[in-house]
Amino acid sequence: MGLEDIIERIASAEKRAGRALGSVQLIAVSKVQPAERVEAVLAQGHRLFGENYVQEAQGKWPSWRETYPDVRVEMIGPLQSNKAKLAVELFEAIHSVDRMSLAKKLAHLAQERGETPDLFVQVNTGREPQKAGILPEDLDAFVKELIAMDLPVQGLMCIPPEGAPARPHFDALAEMAGRNGLWGLSMGMSSDFEDAIAAGATHVRVGSAIFGARDYAKA
Ligand SMILES: *Cc1c(COP(=O)(O)O)cnc(C)c1O
Repeated sequence: MGLEDIIERIASAEKRAGRALGSVQLIAVSKVQPAERVEAVLAQGHRLFGENYVQEAQGKWPSWRETYPDVRVEMIGPLQSNKAKLAVELFEAIHSVDRMSLAKKLAHLAQERGETPDLFVQVNTGREPQKAGILPEDLDAFVKELIAMDLPVQGLMCIPPEGAPARPHFDALAEMAGRNGLWGLSMGMSSDFEDAIAAGATHVRVGSAIFGARDYAKA
């Protein structure tokens, strides 16, 4: 456990999969973690982080960005439309574009600001009613609409159902990205990032395996 261990495991997984070293980006998911744990990882030189909550990110990152101007913070949690404006100001990427109303809002903000974060479309590969994401059969049309709106779609993101093997979901997401001409694959968390790398992940989102367990009661 810990940053160095995860970096090593990513390198081994890249090697086993016959992929170039460094082809997978490690998003250190710092949501709900105490400041001292995040500061330790920043001090070790890591610069790419993921957050789930706009408000929490807004409270933490502006001051760390002053100390570490090259830091990148990416939104990986569900994004409410009324927080979209704040989100495009706070994050270098949004991994959770999951509906047309949000896409329209992001397109509007992009026009207004002349720039926009990198975007990933979240796909509900497990077709779970409680989970966000575009259904697989609606994806191709959705991606086409986003591109028609000049939105910079980098790739796809998924969170496989709990308690089932993740690999089929990773393979399915890779297939969907391929047929849509998208290079980015945001998939894999603490428990399954090596499987995700074998399936072609370009971004893995690892939280507890780097920082330790999250204590939601304290947060
Ligand atoms: C919290 C979270 C993660 C990180 O989960 P861990 O199991 O702690 O690695 C990754 N992706 C998303 C979307 C998350 O919400």
